Amino acid sequence: MSFTILPRSAWTDTAPGFARFPSRRLDPNVVRTVAPHYPADGPVTYGPEPTLAQSAARLRAYRNYHVNHLGWADIGYPMAVDQAGRIFTCAGLSFAGAHSASPSFADANYRVTAVLFILGNNERPSAKAIAAFRNLCRWMKDNRYPNLATRPVDHGNLRGASTSCAGPEIRRLIPTGGMDIPAGKVTAPAATATGDRAHTVKAGETLSAIAAQYSVSVGTLATANNLANPNLLQVGQKLTIPGGETAKPSAPKPSAPADSYADKTSWPERPIQQRLNDQLWEDNAYDNTKFALVEALRRAGYGTESVTPWGRLQQISRWLRGRHGMRGPETQVEIWKRFQTFLKSVDRYAGAIDGIPGPQTTRGIFGWLNDIRPAYL
Ligand SMILES: [Zn+2]
Repeated sequence: MSFTILPRSAWTDTAPGFARFPSRRLDPNVVRTVAPHYPADGPVTYGPEPTLAQSAARLRAYRNYHVNHLGWADIGYPMAVDQAGRIFTCAGLSFAGAHSASPSFADANYRVTAVLFILGNNERPSAKAIAAFRNLCRWMKDNRYPNLATRPVDHGNLRGASTSCAGPEIRRLIPTGGMDIPAGKVTAPAATATGDRAHTVKAGETLSAIAAQYSVSVGTLATANNLANPNLLQVGQKLTIPGGETAKPSAPKPSAPADSYADKTSWPERPIQQRLNDQLWEDNAYDNTKFALVEALRRAGYGTESVTPWGRLQQISRWLRGRHGMRGPETQVEIWKRFQTFLKSVDRYAGAIDGIPGPQTTRGIFGWLNDIRPAYL
């Protein structure tokens, strides 16, 4: 009995993104819920047997959308399963992902882990996908999040959520217990692509030594081989070494921006600063920044081209501080990055409509900003 958790490298060569933000490191004990998601790709049918290449391409597309459109640090989902029963490591399980937070459940991504079903909107999850999901949940409970509740809660039923995710089929299935974390041993999904290896136990070997030899966790090894007592190994016993392993994600390269704010420990208001940084990456984070920009422009009586981008940035910062009590260099850096990205997207939008750059376009941008300003600002 074994199943494979494909590593992140199965679908992307990008580095995990949330690891750049130390405050996003999860406390495994507070993760108590697993939430299935679906991608809301619309009325498409992906079919029962996607190839690895097809599923990998979809994950890359979701990551691209999350990073380049929503402005998140990485694909929002920690893990994913496809209809063929493959299990993918996406953003991974060490850091809080994105996608589950709402205004009334702002730390949802810290308390709820998420598994994406790569499905069309009305596609029914296959038996293999459900088996993969349940195996993964069992594995997470045994190896990562000991307090996971047995019954998942789909995204739309999380507190404060307003979404049809994870779709009607999963939502129908959950109350039946059909997606519960299985008790005891997990069952293997049929015919997953594996890179499994075999090991024959030699005299004097311990499970932990074997695990270390293959860079897998003891828990994974015990689970994969259905070992009730990991201390009882017999010479000559054959062990399956799972090929794709997520227990030891390759050490994320430290990619903190090389700026003068690297020394965060000297910061007196770190909790506030953390809150803002975290908030900026949450579901609504990009929008919050966008709304903040709109609000800053509105209050500044925008439309006057004499307001420089830097001036607007300062307006945003002042507004954020005034409203949220947030301040600090990290915050400024983040806001500035957001602002630049946002302006580029606005430029592209306005340029496509007007066909000409310049003051007219700029006025168009301001008009558009006003149009998207939510009523509550
Ligand atoms: Zn969702």
